[in-house]
Amino acid sequence: MTTEPSTLPHSRDDSVGGSRTDAGAARRIDGRRLLWAAGVTCAVLAVVSIVPGFNVHQTPHPSASQATAKLSLPASTAQPKQRETSKGPRWQTVVVQAGQTMGGIFSSLNLPSTVLHRLLQHPEAKDSLTRIRVGSRFDFDIAEDGAFRALRFERGDAERVVLRIEDDQIVEHKQQRALEHRVMMASGVIENSLYNAGEAAGMSVGAILEMAKVFGYDIDFAQDLRVGDRFDVVYEEVWRDGARLRDGDVLAATFINQGKRFEVYRYVFADGRTEYYDQDGRPTKKSFLRMPIEFARISSRFSSARKHPVLGKVRAHRGVDYAANTGTPIHAAGEGKIQYAGWKNGYGRTIIIQHAGNVTTLYGHMSRLGGYKTGARVRQGDVIGYVGQSGLASGPHLHYEFRVAGVHRDPLKVTLPKPQPLPRNELARFQSQRAPLQAQLSRLAAAEPTTPTRG
Ligand SMILES: [Zn+2]
Repeated sequence: MTTEPSTLPHSRDDSVGGSRTDAGAARRIDGRRLLWAAGVTCAVLAVVSIVPGFNVHQTPHPSASQATAKLSLPASTAQPKQRETSKGPRWQTVVVQAGQTMGGIFSSLNLPSTVLHRLLQHPEAKDSLTRIRVGSRFDFDIAEDGAFRALRFERGDAERVVLRIEDDQIVEHKQQRALEHRVMMASGVIENSLYNAGEAAGMSVGAILEMAKVFGYDIDFAQDLRVGDRFDVVYEEVWRDGARLRDGDVLAATFINQGKRFEVYRYVFADGRTEYYDQDGRPTKKSFLRMPIEFARISSRFSSARKHPVLGKVRAHRGVDYAANTGTPIHAAGEGKIQYAGWKNGYGRTIIIQHAGNVTTLYGHMSRLGGYKTGARVRQGDVIGYVGQSGLASGPHLHYEFRVAGVHRDPLKVTLPKPQPLPRNELARFQSQRAPLQAQLSRLAAAEPTTPTRG
């Protein structure tokens, strides 16, 4: 696979590697489309912001045969006293808009609030009707005379609920809906971005993102990706009533990055819990994130001597700087306990986290702290603060330090002990789950990259 370097998109983000020296193999890839992939925790939000207007969860309505009316409503607001003897249902669909409440929806449909109150008294209905989300849909069956007859909505992926007035009582009908997990397979070779390669392989944005996520601890998609890198992936799609409902899990995948091969397999424990492991049964999830921040570029690396941008003196830079906009969230690189939260001379607003294994991480120059006090426990990925330029900083950036037993180490290079593999009994179970997936991956690897096929 060869592509002229000149055809590669070049963005400002690509200049991250301005100081890189491994230029030979290093054809940098469009960082903009890939940055989102580097984030593990806020990944779903990222899709929304990177691909505006692309609604990952847009699903065809199961009962597509019924006409959908928007919120435009019967012109007559006067409600005839007499109820018409109803024939078939007259469903009207409401898709929740930002800022809308169920009360507002009822009044826009000219339905009396007493009906809503009665519905809310119905056990189990309350949650669905009070915690409504933008984009969710409710179908109302309203008689020609304007009287409420029924309300229908989805609860979870697999249940549809109808609340219907029957003999002046509200009766709940539940309908279980069968979900189908379809196994898909796809392969791709990187020509300019992971996004484009995944799209060319017919994968949805969500599926590409899931794949990036399972490799997110090993591959920094903003910096490490190269032309010619290849992936093979077996993943699920969730279908309902003959229509694709949403993206499912990655079941297995290989990624060859700069000649280095990474494999991940989803393992389902006996209790249904799932985690990802490599071919030897070692967890792919690491104790520390590759980057404590998303959508950032490295503006200064770890070095023993550099000219300080504010002080003008040559001194060691014992951390990594990530340039990012003020307010960009900063994530705890690993699980631990807040050792320090507050102002720390030249570092400005600072958090220090104490981790297991005598490791501490430091995050400086924050515009504000994330609300964790000294002594609080944090999990990996928790937002501990926001990018700023407090203290001695020439512009908004995160200054990140990594210390082992009090000694500064380069966070980009430090190697940590490999995590322990699954215990013996689980390992045997894992390997038997892995065998058929590995066979599928081998078949994919032997073939030319194609569009997804049912597995
Ligand atoms: Zn710094």
